[in-house]
Amino acid sequence: MKWIEGVPAPGKVCGSCTMCCKLFDVDWLDKPKPAGKWCHHCQPGRGCAIWQSLPKGCADYFCVWRIDPDLPEAWRPDKARFILTHAHQDAPLAVLVDPSAPDAHRKEPYKSMLAKTARSILEGRGSTIVVFNGTKRSLLFPDMEVPVPDGLALHEVEIQHFKGPNGPYWRPKFPAAA
Ligand code: SF4
Ligand code: SF4
Repeated sequence: MKWIEGVPAPGKVCGSCTMCCKLFDVDWLDKPKPAGKWCHHCQPGRGCAIWQSLPKGCADYFCVWRIDPDLPEAWRPDKARFILTHAHQDAPLAVLVDPSAPDAHRKEPYKSMLAKTARSILEGRGSTIVVFNGTKRSLLFPDMEVPVPDGLALHEVEIQHFKGPNGPYWRPKFPAAA
């Protein structure tokens, strides 16, 4: 996993959140870990046991909640139960779901805001938000979430734009063999 660096907004601190130590796969630690499992250095809700010698990859990472000054407290990942992140090589914006709360992003106030954001990305870039739950992936559209078949690279998915009676909408087109 490549963690893209971002600048934290003034006043935003992780506090008792340690969600990125669980929801990302991390390959630079003494013991690499898959997404959805706690790092063995993490003291959940308290912090990192090796904070005095924090690996650079960890020190450089900030989720969207830390970077965006306008995102309210409810979006702090330990409260939302998912991480909204730019730090994903396969997606402009990703939702990393906590496997123990897999529907959290489908509830309000998150659902409406994510749908609005997905629409804006689709209109501007033709790609959309990707939801990751461990190795499972889905594409988030303003009106629905569509699972991506296992093993399919995200760049193989074509996103098609349609005009309907209620306005524009988007759907994925998977390769014939998927
Ligand atoms: S997920 Fe965000 S708020 Fe939580 S510990 Fe990581 S950077 Fe901090
Ligand atoms: S080393 Fe510390 S900051 Fe990095 S993932 Fe593990 S617990 Fe989190």
